[in-house]
Amino acid sequence: MSVRQYEHWINGAARAPIAGQRVERHSPAHGALLASFAAGTAADVDVAVAAAKSLHDSAAWSSVPGSERAKLLGKLADLIERDAEHLALIEAEEVGKPITYARGEVLWSAELTRYAASLAWNIQGEAYSHLGEDKLGLVTHEARGVVGLIVPWNFPLVCLFQKLPYALAAGCPVVIKPSELTSGTALEIARLATEAGFPAGLVNVVTGTGAEVGERLTRHPDVAMVSFTGSTRVGKQIAATAAADLTRVALELGGKAANVVFADADLDAALDGVLFGVILNQGEECVAGTRLLIEESVADDFVEKLVERARRVVVGLPLQAETQIGALIHAQHLESVLNYIEIGKQEGARLVLGGERLTGNGLENGYFVGPTLFTGVKPEHRIFREEIFGPVLTVTTFKTVEEAVALANDTDYGLGNGLWTKDVDKAIRVSQKLQSGTVFVNTYLETSPQLPFGGFKQSGYGRENGVDGLREFMETKSTFIKLGARTPVLPNTLG
Ligand code: NAD
Repeated sequence: MSVRQYEHWINGAARAPIAGQRVERHSPAHGALLASFAAGTAADVDVAVAAAKSLHDSAAWSSVPGSERAKLLGKLADLIERDAEHLALIEAEEVGKPITYARGEVLWSAELTRYAASLAWNIQGEAYSHLGEDKLGLVTHEARGVVGLIVPWNFPLVCLFQKLPYALAAGCPVVIKPSELTSGTALEIARLATEAGFPAGLVNVVTGTGAEVGERLTRHPDVAMVSFTGSTRVGKQIAATAAADLTRVALELGGKAANVVFADADLDAALDGVLFGVILNQGEECVAGTRLLIEESVADDFVEKLVERARRVVVGLPLQAETQIGALIHAQHLESVLNYIEIGKQEGARLVLGGERLTGNGLENGYFVGPTLFTGVKPEHRIFREEIFGPVLTVTTFKTVEEAVALANDTDYGLGNGLWTKDVDKAIRVSQKLQSGTVFVNTYLETSPQLPFGGFKQSGYGRENGVDGLREFMETKSTFIKLGARTPVLPNTLG
């Protein structure tokens, strides 16, 4: 296997790091060296921001008609599809996720790009034409300027594509800071953007650590906005840093989603959705359905069947077609997940499945944990409250609708929740009461690009996807126009 060598991507070309340092990524599944990235410093960020700013100042991108921006986004989507297998391989190897899901992510990224292209055709304002015969009010939207896109390691492509095509559609040049663990696909995308014909300086990537590259990007005076996806801890730091210059910030942060299953649901469908919701991406997912809230009357039977199904989930090497759970991202994260499992046991929850590192069948050099289930979990347990980011499901029972809603909302987070019932009235009423940016009804992790995505409470602020996802990258301007002769306000000062 050849090791992939990458530099930064700045002003339409690969560029070596000024300080000459490198960062290596080893496979979380088997330990082999996968890639070598440039370890950027503040000086690299400054070069990238200067390229983006010069493009913005010349209006060479923001003045391009939306229809033309849309055509280039369409080309980028085509190129992503052309290189889908290569991109999926990088994603699966660097993250440790199953190749089958990585392929889905690549195609979803192309889909988001096409949707964002449709928005570029339709950037609208408002005209207030009935203010009086001699007055006209216009509300228009302008590209914000240079945007820093800081993304995490769990869904390197999808997290990027909930931002990038919208920023480009809005007319903004970007500097991307991918996770130092999974920078490969962002660099490949920047190369594809250049191939598609986007101008140099529009899509820049500076790789390296958050402390060095992310920090400089957030502080940079020429960065108009930082759009961040990652942990709530780092999100708070970014908001604090950006506050110095009131740099605009959008934050997509952590979650602790509940899947609420009522006794009158299609329980077979719910079993599938609940299991998928917690195993996808090894549970390293901001909207992972990590808390099962189940109506007491059906709980025992449901959990028994869930455990039976969970035993059949295939944990394996990322590139094997049948794998459904791959490797966790790194050794410290494996330790953290195992530590939460210990905490769960000590707090008195009952471990009914999994809970250990898996090392058999070729997994000995990777960080693997299978589906893990705790029953008897109480709201005061840490495993109920804190983001574990592994394939760990906590089961809590409820008796009434009110109790179910209270349990679901008993968290600092508010990114997503799911609910399962055949009663339409209950589905609508409960979804209205759930405090989260997304609610899945009788399905899980299924959505469409038109629907905005984002958090309530400590899951962040701002929205991605949908029309809101475009508006994030635009400033609103009001223009009041006086037509014809103006009556002086200060007639006594006239000569
Ligand atoms: P993280 O917060 O550690 O890092 C995210 C990114 O921020 C990385 O690129 C990192 O290098 C950078 N960074 C770190 N410190 C920084 C600083 N001081 N200034 C600027 N940038 C800095 O998150 P992670 O561990 O990569 O990802 C997992 C987290 O992301 C989880 O909490 C998960 O819930 C969250 N997440 C949220 C969403 C969402 O849409 N809400 C999606 C995916 C992941």
